[in-house]
Amino acid sequence: MGCSPAWPNPGGAQSGYLLEGPGRLLLDCGPGVLANLRERESWPVVDAIAVTHWHLDHWGDLVPWVWGATLGPGQETAQAQLWVPPDGRELLSSIGGRLGRPEMFEDAFELHEYAEGETFEAAGFEVTPHRVLHYDLLAFGFRASANGAVVGYSGDSGPDESLAELARDADLFVCEATLLRPNPEGGKRGHLSAEEAQEAFEVSGAKRLLLTHRPFERPLDGPFELAHDGLQIEVLPAG
Ligand SMILES: [Zn+2]
Ligand SMILES: [Zn+2]
Repeated sequence: MGCSPAWPNPGGAQSGYLLEGPGRLLLDCGPGVLANLRERESWPVVDAIAVTHWHLDHWGDLVPWVWGATLGPGQETAQAQLWVPPDGRELLSSIGGRLGRPEMFEDAFELHEYAEGETFEAAGFEVTPHRVLHYDLLAFGFRASANGAVVGYSGDSGPDESLAELARDADLFVCEATLLRPNPEGGKRGHLSAEEAQEAFEVSGAKRLLLTHRPFERPLDGPFELAHDGLQIEVLPAG
């Protein structure tokens, strides 16, 4: 539903990946994702949303989602679960206090905090959060599986052995490739080049690599598959 990096690509939405299986699970919900979901149905029917980290491009549309769910067309729709990092409940309460009311997110969603490495069930998927390297932030990638099919999603990450773990033998590995070349700013890593994403993919043993979170201004050099808003992929378990 959206694949833009920290700034939006032309006409694009920021991070949001909808898994449709036993239920509907949205991984991240950046600005523009809700509008794209609303092109499919008047208000999105989503069983659960899981947020990788608190950079705005991964969760910003939860704010208008609250307004629509509590004051607008979403009032008629069943509450979605919202799975957030371990510090999430307090953080959302604090932000809610500035934007509206401290409990605004808890009123709109069934709120849960996940824990590193502890598998939870959401929308019928088994989801395991893996801590990834993203500057000094608390950030996670997800491994999600249902009906024998496995999808790995990096969230935002620098080079990290966790990436191969979360995508181990996955049917699809959705991996960020923000950078034109490794570590242009120096210092602690937070993102990957396409070649580094490819390396993590090869170590993981995953079947298919889809690059994402890529600025429009940074063309890919090589035979990579790149996400675009609206892309749909059927994920079938191997064998
Ligand atoms: Zn991001
Ligand atoms: Zn980030």
